[in-house]
Amino acid sequence: MPAARPHLLGLTRVELAARAVAWGFSPVHSATLWNELYLQGRRSPSEFTPHDRLPARYLDRVFAECDFDFPSIAKETHSSDGFTRKYLLGLRDAHRIETVLMRYSGRVTACVSSQVGCAMGCVFCATGQMGYTRHLTAAEIVAQALHVDAVLRATAPEAPTAAEPAHPSPHHRHERLRNVVFMGMGEPLHNYDAVMQAIDILRDPAGLALGAQKISVSTVGVVPGIRRLAAEKRPVHLAVSLHGATQEERAALVPAARKWRLDELMDACREYTATLGKRIFFEWTLIDGQNDGHAHARAVGELLKGIPAQVNLIPLNPTLGYAGEPTRPAGARAFQDVLATYGIPCTVRQRRGIDIAAGCGQLAID
Ligand code: SAH
Ligand code: SF4
Repeated sequence: MPAARPHLLGLTRVELAARAVAWGFSPVHSATLWNELYLQGRRSPSEFTPHDRLPARYLDRVFAECDFDFPSIAKETHSSDGFTRKYLLGLRDAHRIETVLMRYSGRVTACVSSQVGCAMGCVFCATGQMGYTRHLTAAEIVAQALHVDAVLRATAPEAPTAAEPAHPSPHHRHERLRNVVFMGMGEPLHNYDAVMQAIDILRDPAGLALGAQKISVSTVGVVPGIRRLAAEKRPVHLAVSLHGATQEERAALVPAARKWRLDELMDACREYTATLGKRIFFEWTLIDGQNDGHAHARAVGELLKGIPAQVNLIPLNPTLGYAGEPTRPAGARAFQDVLATYGIPCTVRQRRGIDIAAGCGQLAID
């Protein structure tokens, strides 16, 4: 089979330079091209005009050999509180994905998708309820981050509110994307190679220059992926979606737990924290009367003993395919209090963007 045609946004700076050299051009040109892509925000071949820094012959070769386009914006919705924006993006093959821009605590975060749909089938997740269509390419992941970055650069800072004071930094006026979480549609560790290639591109200091500490990968518990992250010493944050602290309770909510059992998952987590010297964030969707009692919280505390961990509680967000109710705030606080007795830091995720179905687990392509 012939190799797939590369997309410019799927190549690292080193790969782009290697191509320039192979085609008989100076790597100075590819460095300039990189700058145009990631710092000047070019969005199509027609936005490049040949000039003395980028010769026409080089550009002709680049666009003869590589694709370069962006997903179309099929729909844009803003939450009523103004802190969340959701973009429905149309891919070249007409499949669609969602990307979310979230603003809180003076921080802007892009929540990106890694797949069209998801194969893992978590019962309470709108993406899981859609089933799996395909992996995203590295270029399609990078394009989501670039899209959010372009929105930020084009948006004047919003007026401060009591709930959300303005960021004091003078750099706020030239806001750039700083944080990316792989918590959109799909299971990032099921699409490991493309996700890691995209992360390498997003981290490039001559491009978006995201810090490794500003990137979080959230997994349902794909054990081989967690072991590979540890072996490759990838310095990004890891979040593991737990939801149940026994094999049976977890598998009832997360069918993928039948393949990657809880004991194997915890072994992989121990290996990860020991190898990288980093804690893991464990996510727990709080479902009223299902996994939110004192006994459940104690089971989490016991399970995580000896693992550097922080727990993020996410009160269930509504989806069409699941009837459960979210735990009320008092119940979430009680869960937190139990974990505190185990010395485990625990936060409750703020509910944001629910009115536009942009909350955790609500992304689909209605
Ligand atoms: N596939 C990855 C990342 C995407 S989901 C994963 O599962 O970790 C991001 C987070 O939202 C996960 O912790 C997931 O369990 C949680 N989630 C899914 N559906 C939800 C819902 N309806 N309400 C609250 N959280 C949900
Ligand atoms: Fe997939 Fe994550 Fe949704 Fe589970 S919660 S179905 S792994 S996107």
